Amino acid sequence: MNDGPGGPTSGDGSPDGGDAEPGDGRADADSLSRFLLQGAPVRGEIISLDSAWQQVVQRHDLPVCVRDCLGQLSAAALLLAASLKFDGMLVLQIHGDGPVALMVVECDAAGHFRATVKIREGAVVDDQASLVQLVHASGQGRFVVTLDPRTRTPTRQPYQGIVPFEGDSVAQVLEHYMNRSEQVPTRLWLAADEHRAAGLLLQRLPDQGGSAAQATDADGWNRMCQLADTIDPLELVSLSSADMLHRLFWQEPLHAFDRRRCGFACSCSRDKVAAMLRMLGREEVESILVERETVEVNCDFCNLAYRFDAVDAAGLFLPGADHPPPTQPQ
Ligand SMILES: [Zn+2]
Repeated sequence: MNDGPGGPTSGDGSPDGGDAEPGDGRADADSLSRFLLQGAPVRGEIISLDSAWQQVVQRHDLPVCVRDCLGQLSAAALLLAASLKFDGMLVLQIHGDGPVALMVVECDAAGHFRATVKIREGAVVDDQASLVQLVHASGQGRFVVTLDPRTRTPTRQPYQGIVPFEGDSVAQVLEHYMNRSEQVPTRLWLAADEHRAAGLLLQRLPDQGGSAAQATDADGWNRMCQLADTIDPLELVSLSSADMLHRLFWQEPLHAFDRRRCGFACSCSRDKVAAMLRMLGREEVESILVERETVEVNCDFCNLAYRFDAVDAAGLFLPGADHPPPTQPQ
């Protein structure tokens, strides 16, 4: 693994180097920036999800604490996806035993993501509830990471890691996962409100090149973490990414190397819903039609409603109608 960029360095602590940055910082809205600490095996990423996150917020009527945890998980998923260099879908799931039964974020390497939450029927959620109260109330919460490669080959198959829920925050749960399962020392700082989901990731890379690399800045990792520990969550959701990095690391020789766009995108489609109804079977679909006249399927992620009336439904099961191979329900 070699992240070393070859270009000139900015040297001013800004990951954007000489980029013109408008005063309001909107140039780095809905984007993820990556940087390195010169002379030390430390890499970092910072993300700000703005209108992309608001699209999730608008589609779900969530209690504030649930919304903010989902925002943190969304920012974290995109940060991890960018750090894993994996071409495919990364899915983070928290299976909860409290009022929240499931929290899911899916994202791809291109920075597209979607997110949803299942709250147990009849559950009452205190707006101030902690993550542990939401998903680990009786100690049965689980955290699941799935990597689903874009193209599957005999040696490239989906991977799923299931770990016990450990930690008091989304950041701590993910840090435990990365440190134990991926064995990459990783720290995360996450925050979200109704307008923005934001996060900072620092990773300690394996020393490359032996003693020379170690000798230059042996304390870089600890120093960067200590500086980042001064983050106030309010700053993360109010400062632009560039201003946040400047505020934390202005004395550090950071080297910026890229910025990528992030956006909300849902992969649902009428064809996928039709395939799901075919798997359900004609009898089941017809029995729903007897009760309700139309079969309506809502996408859990984007809330779009797909409706099939009796004519549409009959078309699903016509001889010669398209019968794609069944897909695994997500
Ligand atoms: Zn959808």
